Amino acid sequence: MELFYSKLDKHIESLDEKFGSKFVIKKAAYNGIILVLKDGCGESSFKLWVHKHFKLVTIGELQVVYGIESNNPVITYEQLYVTIKECHERVEHHGRDKTWKEIKQQYRWIPFDVVVIFLSQCDLCWNRKAFPKPIADKPITSISFLTRIQMDLIDMRSIPDGGFHWILHTKDRFAKFSWAYALKTKEAQPVAEKLLHQFYSFEPPRILQSDNGKIRCKSDKTEKAP
Ligand SMILES: [Zn+2]
Repeated sequence: MELFYSKLDKHIESLDEKFGSKFVIKKAAYNGIILVLKDGCGESSFKLWVHKHFKLVTIGELQVVYGIESNNPVITYEQLYVTIKECHERVEHHGRDKTWKEIKQQYRWIPFDVVVIFLSQCDLCWNRKAFPKPIADKPITSISFLTRIQMDLIDMRSIPDGGFHWILHTKDRFAKFSWAYALKTKEAQPVAEKLLHQFYSFEPPRILQSDNGKIRCKSDKTEKAP
């Protein structure tokens, strides 16, 4: 949350003063809006702005500020993080557009830029991008351990570790057993070395399947290709 607000403050500072002062509404300004709408007191240009955008809605004993056009409650600067978080979780982290739509339907005065700042901080969304789904779960028939091994390369170039940029991931389709090897490059030779190492330790599978197609390791007539 601190990181979000420090980024947001920096963003507000970067805006020109006239726009920046109304970009988000802090609690003090919110109370000022209530005073204008309730008692009509306030500085004239502020009053003009308030009457143009806001109205007062009484909910129980509480008076809250609503946007005139959207007819949605105004969110203050202090409530931004929690409110955006709720909306983003309600759409199950499904990206910017869905989050923005959810926010717009329910609230007023949450700028789009602030949503973008929030999303850039979301660990779950970030991890989803950095770690692509390792293996395409195509239904592949398999009759026993080491019949079919599926292999793929996971791209770790965005977060390399000590010169290692790729993970070679192999998985036995029958036993769901996985092996993983760190690789510096995805060239054929280092990949082949790791595979050979695995085959010497266990045994070569009848079929080695990669995303690009099927490589037959041993002749086998008992299993039909999909
Ligand atoms: Zn997220």
